[in-house]
Amino acid sequence: NAAARQRQPVVYFDEMVNRNARERAATHAELRRALTEGQFELYFQPKAALPDHRLVGFEALLRWRQPGHGIVPPATFVPLAEETGLIREIDVWVAERACEAIMRINRALNTDFSVSVNASAMALESGDYIRHLRRLIAENHIPVEWLEIEMTETTIGDDTVAAAALLAECRAIGLKVSIDDFGIGYSSLHRLRHFPVSGLKIDRSFVGELGQSNVARLIIRATIELGHAMGLQIIAEGVETLAQAEDLALLGVDVYQGYVLSRPLPEAELMRWIGNQDLGTLLLR
Ligand code: C2E
Ligand code: MG
Ligand code: MG
Ligand code: MG
Repeated sequence: NAAARQRQPVVYFDEMVNRNARERAATHAELRRALTEGQFELYFQPKAALPDHRLVGFEALLRWRQPGHGIVPPATFVPLAEETGLIREIDVWVAERACEAIMRINRALNTDFSVSVNASAMALESGDYIRHLRRLIAENHIPVEWLEIEMTETTIGDDTVAAAALLAECRAIGLKVSIDDFGIGYSSLHRLRHFPVSGLKIDRSFVGELGQSNVARLIIRATIELGHAMGLQIIAEGVETLAQAEDLALLGVDVYQGYVLSRPLPEAELMRWIGNQDLGTLLLR
């Protein structure tokens, strides 16, 4: 009858909420266990400068090796970790591991490569994260240039002013900070205006359309012009072909990364990959 039909969605909704709450609680417990039981791993993707394709560093990308599930990509679990705030601890863990890795790599090769870590806006907003970075740099006596931050595309909390002040602190000690996925996400221009960043990372969706879409090309050109006028470094991600890399070089992009250079690799494979490059000459040439 009509009354039952009317009630039905309410009951259904109620069950959904409960089930989702249960599922969420379970996932959160699994994520915490992942952190304490060492199920997270870092992969590293090479970055090269344009126009000469010189290797300059790596981006650290998180992977979850979940027992029984294989490797889980961050798109699956980072949003959940943001929901509970566990991302703050995860991002600190990432920064520590990335710092150790770049010390091993640069000492082994006598190089000055940098590693960039993705930091959720939520991690950046809590002053803890930046305190950890300062401590990492100071305790390990590493050049501040070895570590960089990519501010990932998550909803920024209400406290833009506090976050901007914390970023200013990072910049004051010489840390580079880029806005990740520039152009697609939450309030890219708002962030550009309010956060004292040093770089913009053009989202790979624009790069992917470079050959086909005049609009994508215009957006990339405008982003480069705006960024350079503000004194920012322009990074392009998701570069899959040499033609795209050359095109981006002509447009004025400073640094790029993507499958054309290499997929993200575990540290040991990365070392082999670097070993196969002739670092005295140009990559991809
Ligand atoms: P992102 O920071 O924009 O990272 C770039 C993503 O593009 C990576 O996906 C990378 O594997 C992928 N990629 C690289 N080159 C290419 C290419 O040529 N073609 C295509 N199609 N894709 C390419 P991944 O590793 O799955 O990471 C996804 C996102 O998860 C990252 O996007 C970042 O927002 C987030 N993330 C990763 N690690 C962390 C972390 O440690 N902390 C936080 N808070 N977020 C992270
Ligand atoms: Mg990134
Ligand atoms: Mg990105
Ligand atoms: Mg992206």
